[in-house]
Amino acid sequence: MVDIGRKEKELLPSAGINANMVVGDVHLLNELARLEKIAKQLEPDQVQRTELNRSVEAYADKFLNALPDMKTYVADEPATVPSPPAISNEPLGLEEALAFLASAVDKTGINPASGGHIGYIPGGGIYAAALGDYLADVFNRYAGVLFAGPGAVRLEKSLLCWMAKLVGFPESAAGDLTSGGSMANLTGIVAGRAAHEIKAVDVPRTVVYLSEQAHHSIEKALRVAGLGECVLRFLELDERFRISPDALTAAIEADQTIGLNPWLVVASAGTTDVGAVDPLDELAEICRQHKLWLHIDAAYGGFFVLCDSVKESLAGMAHADSVVMDPHKGLFLPYGSGAVLVRDQAAMHSAFNYHAHYMQDAVQDVAMMSPADLSPELSRPFRGLRLWLPLMIHGLTPFRAALDEKLLLTKYFHREIQKVPGFEVGPEPQLSVATYRYVPKKGDADQFNKQLIDELQIDGRVFVSSTRINGRFVLRVAILNFRTHRDTVDLTIEILADAAMRLAKT
Ligand SMILES: *Cc1c(COP(=O)(O)O)cnc(C)c1O
Repeated sequence: MVDIGRKEKELLPSAGINANMVVGDVHLLNELARLEKIAKQLEPDQVQRTELNRSVEAYADKFLNALPDMKTYVADEPATVPSPPAISNEPLGLEEALAFLASAVDKTGINPASGGHIGYIPGGGIYAAALGDYLADVFNRYAGVLFAGPGAVRLEKSLLCWMAKLVGFPESAAGDLTSGGSMANLTGIVAGRAAHEIKAVDVPRTVVYLSEQAHHSIEKALRVAGLGECVLRFLELDERFRISPDALTAAIEADQTIGLNPWLVVASAGTTDVGAVDPLDELAEICRQHKLWLHIDAAYGGFFVLCDSVKESLAGMAHADSVVMDPHKGLFLPYGSGAVLVRDQAAMHSAFNYHAHYMQDAVQDVAMMSPADLSPELSRPFRGLRLWLPLMIHGLTPFRAALDEKLLLTKYFHREIQKVPGFEVGPEPQLSVATYRYVPKKGDADQFNKQLIDELQIDGRVFVSSTRINGRFVLRVAILNFRTHRDTVDLTIEILADAAMRLAKT
């Protein structure tokens, strides 16, 4: 509470004060005027805005101009990096703040903006998305509830409809724009739980079928959703790391015989590890026959459906109950953009709708549900704009070309690295992940490849990562950053060849 009883004589007369007011009122009005003046510092005027914008723009330009020569990986050195400035009553100022970012944030670790990032699953960061975020933040439309932000909700719905169509879902499908694939997987799985009306007591006899290759966010989602005690059946995979449909059928039938409740099949359209696409059509047919919920995690691979050369292998997504795809992977957006699509809107609605008295003015519309009724979130950023604006600015053509290019670059890498003496490769890439390793003439191959990764990290021009396949340490490239082109792949091969030769000599 504000202290309005002090120092009467210091108070200045101000507009709106009249003779009928008691002393306390005068204090109140004066205090409000004082606070208003300070609070208005949060609203820079046009001149100040221009100045702020210029500084931020100059920083961004400097970053983008320097990017081609920046390293992709720089080891962290906490001792040499300044600590974040203390939060205090006085401002630090934008220039100082930007200087801190340059010295402490945009410096070490993996540089995700770099085309040299071909490890894990790279993210994006197209510029047009930043402009969308900027605008969304300036006007701050409320995208959680239709009544509050009808234009924003409809625009997001149009993006979800577009994705549903890409996947082959009916128009009646529902969906949500999430912060990423993990939240999208959680949302899809919770919708599947609602559809099958799984109660807590049922959990220990409820069965989930998945691949060892499934992303860890699936098991995390099950745990978060209170389904951690479900029976997990890890299915046999073929030589390209895809779920064997026969193994699925056999497992479901065996579980039915012993009185368990087969519920969920989690398939992948592009595994994180090797980019494997499960036989979606066949798995969907088995799920249909046995009435199981089919969740397809296409966080990494989903948007490759835009590419003629692989869309056939992804066509089975059309028969899923829920599908996840990450615009911050396959559409090159900055981190913070996932999406989930659910064929049956009622399942999603029954999982997430909630009615609160303070929301009674928010009218419902069945044809146009509010995101809040289809997701765990209420207030949320207007996420759609960072996706919609780039699509409006660029059209789909360059997105599709970039994805086609990544597929070809991966094939190219897979072909070229085999030509370097000592390197062997994994299976022909299904999407844009390729695995390989160096086989030294003497010594332990796992150890050697681990050292090779260390060498590449010290070099830092590109960032590749590793995994374990069938107990072996293998290297991988995942080509998905929109700034990765042929020169990066050639450079990677050159660095790998040099480093392997050097190591082989020691
Ligand atoms: C990246 C990824 C996820 C997790 O998505 P986030 O956006 O990182 O939360 C889930 N599944 C697959 C297959 C992925 O590649």
